[in-house]
Amino acid sequence: MLLLDGSDAAIDRAAAILRSGGIAAFPTETVYGLGADAFNTRALARVFEAKERPRFDPLIIHLADRAELERIADLDALDARRRRLLDTLAGTFWPGPLTLVLPKRPEVPDLATAALPTAAIRVPRHPIARRLIALSTGAVAAPSANPFGRLSPTTAAHVIEGLGDKIDCVIDGGPCEVGVESTVLDLGSDTVRILRSGGISREELEAAAGRGIITAAAYTEGGAAGPGMLKSHYAPRVPLFLRRAGEMPAGGGALLFFSGATRAAKAGDKAEAAETTLTLSESGSTLDAAAN
Ligand code: AMP
Ligand code: MG
Repeated sequence: MLLLDGSDAAIDRAAAILRSGGIAAFPTETVYGLGADAFNTRALARVFEAKERPRFDPLIIHLADRAELERIADLDALDARRRRLLDTLAGTFWPGPLTLVLPKRPEVPDLATAALPTAAIRVPRHPIARRLIALSTGAVAAPSANPFGRLSPTTAAHVIEGLGDKIDCVIDGGPCEVGVESTVLDLGSDTVRILRSGGISREELEAAAGRGIITAAAYTEGGAAGPGMLKSHYAPRVPLFLRRAGEMPAGGGALLFFSGATRAAKAGDKAEAAETTLTLSESGSTLDAAAN
């Protein structure tokens, strides 16, 4: 595995790897992605294999520019209402951490979309991601660069730890700015809905769309409401317990506080028994907490 810096020459090298059917990890503003040419089924298969990702979990196709959208999406299949919504949301949030699920063109390999009639598409805003996609094949399918089900990587070191020699290269672009996944919005069926919460909030989407947007029901016993909505996902390997301030467990492990205020509210002696104490955001900002 080749560790590359974020220089233009290094990105060009990674682009050549993608063009020749390799798989390359790279930073985006959300998390690190593991990319393959979206039209190369062998390369796509390697992404699933490296991540041990089940084939039913579709990938997000990353474009360098919105102008490339119709290589992947069949926009004629959208009614006028969803077409307007697409224009508004793509105009407002692209490039950025919003993924749109749209009817797909038949040329898009089934492997990229888990054989669904739709494809998940986004234009990232990270300059390394944009250069890499533009110089490789213009359409890069890239799930997060981590073993399936685990926390998404936000540094190159996380990628190496999780996938190491299963991939051809990783570009180190430093820590990711947003730190959580893109928001996935379904425009592929009649009911527009959020399939996964992420870097763009429901409130931001509603403000741009000028209408309410629903969030799809989370996991229900008997089957996921949509791909990726599994009972366990984004899971750390160590046991994690959720507590209210004032209900602190005794001893061991680490305590992770949301804000300075939750830390201040901790229950005296017991909390002191923790080996490590961390605070996600001193000021209680959800954006900072996500990035941290
Ligand atoms: P990841 O690339 O690991 O951040 O995850 C991609 C996620 O996007 C999947 O787990 C799904 O939840 C969602 N997704 C991708 N393609 C589709 C699709 N065609 N329809 C619905 N959800 C999708
Ligand atoms: Mg993922």
